[in-house]
Amino acid sequence: MPIHPQVLGCKETIGDTMTQNNIANELDKKEQQKETDALKKKLFFQGELAWDRMLEQDRTAAYDFCDGYKEFLDRAKTEREAAAEIVRHVEGKGFRPLRPESDGGPNVYAINRKKNAALAVLGRKPLEEGLRIIVSHIDSPRLDLKQNPLYEEVELAFLKTHYYGGIKKYQWVARPLALHGVLIRGDGSSLDIRIGEEEGEPVLTILDLLPHLARNAQYNKKLPDAIIGEKLNALVAALPFPDKDAKERFKLQLLQRLHEMYNLVEEDFISAELELVPAGRARDVGLDRSMVGAYGQDDRVCAYCSMQALLDTESPPETILALFMDKEEIGSEGNTSGKSRFMEDVVVDLFRMAGAAPEEYLVRKALMNSRALSADVNGAMDPDYQEVHEKRNAAKMGYGVCITKFTGSGGKYNSSDAHAEYMGWIRRIFNSSNVVWQTGELGKVDEGGGGTLAKYLAEYGMEIVDCGTALLSMHSPFEIAHKADIYMTYKAFHAFLSAQRE
Ligand code: MN
Ligand code: MN
Repeated sequence: MPIHPQVLGCKETIGDTMTQNNIANELDKKEQQKETDALKKKLFFQGELAWDRMLEQDRTAAYDFCDGYKEFLDRAKTEREAAAEIVRHVEGKGFRPLRPESDGGPNVYAINRKKNAALAVLGRKPLEEGLRIIVSHIDSPRLDLKQNPLYEEVELAFLKTHYYGGIKKYQWVARPLALHGVLIRGDGSSLDIRIGEEEGEPVLTILDLLPHLARNAQYNKKLPDAIIGEKLNALVAALPFPDKDAKERFKLQLLQRLHEMYNLVEEDFISAELELVPAGRARDVGLDRSMVGAYGQDDRVCAYCSMQALLDTESPPETILALFMDKEEIGSEGNTSGKSRFMEDVVVDLFRMAGAAPEEYLVRKALMNSRALSADVNGAMDPDYQEVHEKRNAAKMGYGVCITKFTGSGGKYNSSDAHAEYMGWIRRIFNSSNVVWQTGELGKVDEGGGGTLAKYLAEYGMEIVDCGTALLSMHSPFEIAHKADIYMTYKAFHAFLSAQRE
C-alpha cells in the first residue's frame, strides 16, 4: 500500500523515487520500533497479569485450589477453629504431634493453647544450618463478647461486645452474625459454640438506625464516630419470662433457656471467648468466578497456602516450618502471638526429636541462619480510591503474589525492612519457578500504614520479608482475593520451601 505523502510530512508531490524512499524509511522506522520494544522488554520492570502467564492446566488448578481454600475458610472462622482445622487436615496426611522424646518425624505438628499452631518437616541438613520458615496469622478482626455481656433494654435482650482488631464499625451493623467460641463452666467443663453458620440456624445482629432519623445521630458526624464501639450490641432475644411481675424478664428467659440447653449460668460468660463473625460461607465472586469473597482472608489465605505448600514439599534439604500465629491483629501481644516464645520452643523440640542436644548456642544459630517469609496480605489498589495508593508501587489484583519489602508507617517506622540481598534471592527463586509476582507497599507515604509479624521474627536474626496475596476490601466482613493471586501465593510458598540455598 502506497504511503500518503502528508502522513510522512512530505511537501513534494509523489514521484516514483520518492515513494520508494518513503517505503524504505517506513521499514526503517518499523525496525527501529521493534528494537525499541525489545530494549524496553529487556530493561523495564513491568508486571504481568498472572492469568496471561498461566497455561490452561494452571488455570484449572487455580480454580480447584480455591475450592479447597473456600472449604477451609468455612471451617476456620476463628483462630481456634483454624488451628483445629489445620491439625485435622495434616493428621489426615500422616502428621503426628511433635514430641521431643520420640523420633516420630519427619512430619510433625505442634499446637499452643488451641489457638496457635506449627507444622514441620525435618530436613536432611542439621538444624543449626537454618530452617525455612513461613509465618502467617489465623486471627481476624471481629467482635468479641464482653465478659458480662447480657442485658435487656426496651424489652429486647442484647450482648455487649468489644471489637477486636481494626474494623470499620459501620460495616458490622445490620448484617447476620454467627457466634463462635468456647465457654468454660464453673465445674471446669467446656462448651464449644458455633451458631449461625448452617442453614436453618438462627443468627444475631447489630441494629442500625433508620435513615429517616439519622441526621443528627449519624449523618452529621465523621464516619468513624457515626457508629460508636459501645453501641455495637448484638440483638440476642425478644421473648419474656412468663411471670409478668418479674424484673429483667427477657434476660431471665434467655438465661433459663441457655441453662436448659447447655447447663450454663451467667457467670460462665466470664470464662468464655465468644466471637461474633459475619455469618455465611465463602463465595465465588464475579460472573466469571474469578475471585473469592469471604470473611477472614486476612490472613487465612496465607495460612492455607503455606499449609498446602508445606504438605507438597517432599524431602526438603532444610527443615521447613509453617507457623500460624494468633493475636496479630491486636499487635501480637500474648502467649499465642508472634511475640511469644512458641517458635523457639518448637525449634528446641525439633532438635531433640532429631536426636541433637538443643544447646542454646545451636538453637540461636538455627534461628539466625533461617530464611523466612512473613506471609501476610497486602491491600490491592482500590479502583474507586486510587488516590490513596502510589500506583507505581501499589499491588494490583491479578498480578500475582505480592512481595512487600517493608511495611510500617510514617517513614518506615515499626517496619522490618528486608535486605537487598534477600530480596534478590527471593526474586531469583520466584523467577526460576515461574511464579508470577509483584511488589507492593501499604499506601502512599503519608497516607497511613500497618505492620506484620516480620519484625518479631527478625529479632532472631533470620532473613525475612513480607509476601502474600493482595486483597480488596481488606478487614471488611467480605474481603476479595483474585484466584490467580491465591494460586500464585501457594506456588510462591512452595518455591520458597523447596529452593536450594545458594
Ligand atoms: Mn490485618
Ligand atoms: Mn494480616
